[in-house]
Amino acid sequence: MIYCDFNATAPCRQPVIDAMLPFFREEFGNPASRHGFGLRALEAVEQAAAQVARRIGAEVDELVFTSGATESNNTVLQGAGRRGLLISRHEHASIYRPARSLGARLTDPAELEEVLKDGARLVAFNLACHETGELLAGVPELARRIHAAGALFHLDATQAAGKIPVDVHELDCDFLSFSAHKLGGPKGVGALYIRSGVELPPLIDGGGQQRGRRSGTLNVPGIVGFGAAARLADPARFSSCARDRFEELLAASGLPFELIATDRPRLPGTSLVSLPGEDAGKLVDALYAAGVAASAGSACSGRGSEPSRLLLDLGYPALTAAGAVRFSFGAESSIAEAEEAAAAFIRIIQATNRKGVVDVN
Ligand code: PMP
Repeated sequence: MIYCDFNATAPCRQPVIDAMLPFFREEFGNPASRHGFGLRALEAVEQAAAQVARRIGAEVDELVFTSGATESNNTVLQGAGRRGLLISRHEHASIYRPARSLGARLTDPAELEEVLKDGARLVAFNLACHETGELLAGVPELARRIHAAGALFHLDATQAAGKIPVDVHELDCDFLSFSAHKLGGPKGVGALYIRSGVELPPLIDGGGQQRGRRSGTLNVPGIVGFGAAARLADPARFSSCARDRFEELLAASGLPFELIATDRPRLPGTSLVSLPGEDAGKLVDALYAAGVAASAGSACSGRGSEPSRLLLDLGYPALTAAGAVRFSFGAESSIAEAEEAAAAFIRIIQATNRKGVVDVN
């Protein structure tokens, strides 16, 4: 099986699992306890916080651990997005849906100036799009304009972290969310960066853990795994070779593949390919039967074969959106795997074209 769905999730690396295991077994303490079990758990959490903070150039006390990027994004939107919120067309559902219920407006980063005049207080943008892989351009300049208008700036760096360099000072953002499971850590643990001095009320209140910014007993094994994964996920080791070879083979096949957003700066591992008129869900099923795990549109939004909402919002035709399959490679994906994935996809399309139905046998 060739795994080409790293934007959905990445496998947990072995050193990450090794780092977590003691905290399921003998070191099961609650970091809030005063005795040795608690103190050892607290020490492990503090070490992990330093590793995670270092990955984004933040200070440890600017970091809050959450249950994942969905919670981090909701914390920012619910806490700072109630008085004028702007989002882009590239947002993940964990921004898009709460933003819509808060009455947010969609904006094109290039037209930001106009919209900011209407008094937005929070601008939330996706740093790297989970579907197209597109990178948000000119971030420091966007941050300057947002701050000049008196608004706060949130970045969703869930897909960017570990794949490209992410530094909160260079990006000049006030909030930034990301998640362990996208960079080789466990699922169900994420982080939210809150710039020192910026006030943000908690989404989850209770026992006052994490200096009152997110209550709930800390997920110690998860946080330790997040720390180990953040230390190991080095963007310098993430090349675009596998993705580029994959796209080169599709382009050379002469089949009517539409490669989306290839003319813009993208994440190094993401390839969004559409076959207008095909059903992406069926193509993904046929790919899996042929030994390749990919996804249709955004894997995070469920299993339906609905055309991608994000591609429709970006102005792609409905047929292109409905036939879009995402292949996402990881730092560890090989060129041989990319070649096999491309060959399988080409065989499926040839079979489809011959019979008018997807049938790889
Ligand atoms: N934002 C983006 C851009 C994502 O790709 C994802 C995960 N698909 C999320 C947020 C949500 O992350 P989590 O699974 O940690 O809640």
